[in-house]
Amino acid sequence: MKTQTGILTVVSGFSGSGKGTIMKRLLEKYPENYALSISATTRAPRPGEEDGREYFFRTVERFEEMIENDELLEYARYVNNYYGTPKAYVQEQLAKGRDVILEIEIQGALKIKQKYPDTVLLFVTPPSFEELERRLVGRGTETPEVVHDRLCRAGEECDGVEAYDYLIVNDDLEACVEQVHSVLQNEHARISRNGIFINEMKKELAEYVKGERS
Ligand code: ADP
Ligand code: 5GP
Repeated sequence: MKTQTGILTVVSGFSGSGKGTIMKRLLEKYPENYALSISATTRAPRPGEEDGREYFFRTVERFEEMIENDELLEYARYVNNYYGTPKAYVQEQLAKGRDVILEIEIQGALKIKQKYPDTVLLFVTPPSFEELERRLVGRGTETPEVVHDRLCRAGEECDGVEAYDYLIVNDDLEACVEQVHSVLQNEHARISRNGIFINEMKKELAEYVKGERS
């Protein structure tokens, strides 16, 4: 009997904290459990990024059309670009029982939590500010100006961290991936997510009490 749909999970965190790296590893280790939503964005692809793999890269006109047509679960602006979550894939994977992960920034996270209150919100941070700066610069994908903008944005995002359910400190990558996995597995055990199972058990016990089951 299928008793649960997947859990909608949002992962946010400072740019450079390691969200993408953690998610990639989580999906490698547990491909049956998780599905990662692919967002649409108006930002330009980074070297090595492919349309339909990291993002759906779209023009501003096409993105605004997606907003008009209600094709997005949420969208936000982040450092001069649009980013948004296409609806169809998320709904399809949740129905299959996979936990769907949205790797999105804080405005989008709060919109999702408001619309779907049993979403689990995870906030990823490196162990220190120095390490954050080192990773963001070390990744080598951003100009010094964009690194500066992203660190400023990290300061703003820190103010919203109280809205999240779990803090994930990404120091040792493997330990961090296991922590995310165990948080989500524990979430599946919540009474509130197990209504179908509990009702079935209640029904069978009631039948037993009435002598309808031997
Ligand atoms: P985000 O998706 O949060 O912007 P990335 O996943 O791109 O961050 O990671 C930023 C940089 O930090 C990358 O160069 C990545 O290889 C590195 N990184 C990620 N996790 C760790 C870790 N646990 N220890 C050391 N470096 C890490
Ligand atoms: P990047 O340009 O580094 O890939 O992403 C910049 C920020 O946009 C990150 O914080 C990332 O999590 C966020 N982001 C990516 N996709 C989405 C999305 O669909 N919606 C929202 N709200 N944020 C997103």
